[in-house]
Amino acid sequence: MTVLVLGGAGYIGSHTVDRLVEKGYDVAVVDNLITGHAKAINPKARFYQGDVRDKLFMREVFDKEDIDTVIHFAAFSVVPESMSNPLKYFDNNTYGMTALLEVMRDAGVKRIVFSSTAATYGEPKQVPIKETDPQIPTNPYGESKLSMEKIIHWADVAYGIKFVALRYFNVAGAKADGSIGEDHHPETHLIPIILQVAQGKRDKLTIFGGDYPTDDGTNIRDYVHVMDLADAHILAMEYLKKGNDSTAFNLGSSHGFSNKEIVDAARKATGKPIPAEIGPRRAGDPAVLVASSEKAKKILGWTPKYDDMEKIIATAWHWDETHPNGYNDR
Ligand code: UDP
Repeated sequence: MTVLVLGGAGYIGSHTVDRLVEKGYDVAVVDNLITGHAKAINPKARFYQGDVRDKLFMREVFDKEDIDTVIHFAAFSVVPESMSNPLKYFDNNTYGMTALLEVMRDAGVKRIVFSSTAATYGEPKQVPIKETDPQIPTNPYGESKLSMEKIIHWADVAYGIKFVALRYFNVAGAKADGSIGEDHHPETHLIPIILQVAQGKRDKLTIFGGDYPTDDGTNIRDYVHVMDLADAHILAMEYLKKGNDSTAFNLGSSHGFSNKEIVDAARKATGKPIPAEIGPRRAGDPAVLVASSEKAKKILGWTPKYDDMEKIIATAWHWDETHPNGYNDR
């Protein structure tokens, strides 16, 4: 029986594929390589290059492979881009899910673990955010992921396709040996940008907004190490295999760091000065996003191994230092 990982050449997907292989699972990967990297895929996984929205292609993959569970990462995930180009997000993310579920239904595959996001909650009324809290996204990225959650729910009701939606907060770090890591073009995420400043690839960091209602005026986010996130996917898959019901879990550290605190932690982890200045707010950014991850800990038995921000950043820095040009494939 095979685990099919969609988006397995991306940042989180490639770390999950690596962990699955390490744990002895048989893995197949689909990725269109628009944002992913073929070199990021563990060579023990079988790779099919193609698009989740291409139902003919996907039916061929489902015919060739004996698929037991799908883990679905294949989506666009850049908040500011979604603000300026929302239809790109509804096409790839929302329509991609519809097309996938149709193929899964026809192939009789009944389990899916899927990447959702804290962005589905929008501006929270209270923190830490619980899974039962209202989901009112403030950007099209979050809206597209919320629509994916809703579509899966109805596919469960109608066709019995069981799902776990994993609502990620902020993801950071790299595999500790530095063999795989984060490589986006263009890079928009805070920690990799900070590390580009540390590497001398950028002059300085601009912190988006210094007038938020937080202690130091900068946004607060909740960071999880990518390997801990990978483990959560495997636990979610096992949860479904035991015949449990569809549900959603937050995945965070339950600890918030302000953007200024992240810069300080990066200065310590890298030993570099990392010049930073405050700039205007970025559209669509909630002030504070911190997860309650109690449900994942209790029900999945998830125990994140990384709880120290400096150590999380140090793993990303190790990847950067050993791969100054990332995967260097575009
Ligand atoms: N951020 C920033 N400068 C940058 C990139 C990001 O200040 O060059 C901030 C952003 O406004 C947010 C936090 O860093 O408060 C995390 O943003 P990121 O894009 O990494 O993840 P998101 O929270 O959007 O998923």
